Amino acid sequence: MNSLSRRHLLLAATGIAAAAAAPRIVFAQGAMAPTGPFKLDPLAYPVNALEPHIDARTMEIHHDRHHQAFITSLNNFAKDNPQIADKPVPEVLANLNSVPEAIRTGVRNSMGGHANHTMFWQIMGPNGGKAEGDVLAAIDRDLGGLEKFQTDFNAAGGRVFGSGWVFVTVDKDGKLAIETRPNQDNPMMDGKRVLLGNDVWEHAYYLNYQNRRADYLKAWWNTVNWKVIGERYAAAKAGTLGV
Ligand code: MN
Repeated sequence: MNSLSRRHLLLAATGIAAAAAAPRIVFAQGAMAPTGPFKLDPLAYPVNALEPHIDARTMEIHHDRHHQAFITSLNNFAKDNPQIADKPVPEVLANLNSVPEAIRTGVRNSMGGHANHTMFWQIMGPNGGKAEGDVLAAIDRDLGGLEKFQTDFNAAGGRVFGSGWVFVTVDKDGKLAIETRPNQDNPMMDGKRVLLGNDVWEHAYYLNYQNRRADYLKAWWNTVNWKVIGERYAAAKAGTLGV
């Protein structure tokens, strides 16, 4: 064997070892996604941080492929309709009738999906603590206490037929309500704000839970970041809560 082919083999073996040791697959966003005004924020925690409740592979596919697909779609719409990126996402979603009819359903789905998933990654995390302070007081007042709230929220999520989301909305007085939406719709489309929400599309849980959505809904509470939810609650009352 000449030294060139030996070197080639060595490099190949090193490449295999590196790939095996890599903590996650990185999708080539630069090569595949058109550039544009919409960007996918990286997760604030490792993809395996929510295990065993949500597995790393599900997080990786969900964030890097499903959420990225919404971003790619939005950037494609923005090529000919740059105005969809001129206003904050909550404003565009609250005024979908202002979006040109030819792209309205597409923008509804992909901007709704972008908003929903941006919120979803934020309100989860490792070591998420527990409900306390103002947000716990609001849960007691409006939703019958933490245990009843979680039972009712899980039941509402279980009743979503097909794909959709279960949310807690919050108004500017801090009042809470459980609401569901189909597809990638979001309460911001009705001028409301979301405190938290869970994704009940099968892609959110199928690898680990298959058809057992109820088990996923129950386990999901172990991934919730109550510190962030407390901050979102304060922002909602201050009128500064975004997606
Ligand atoms: Mn999803």
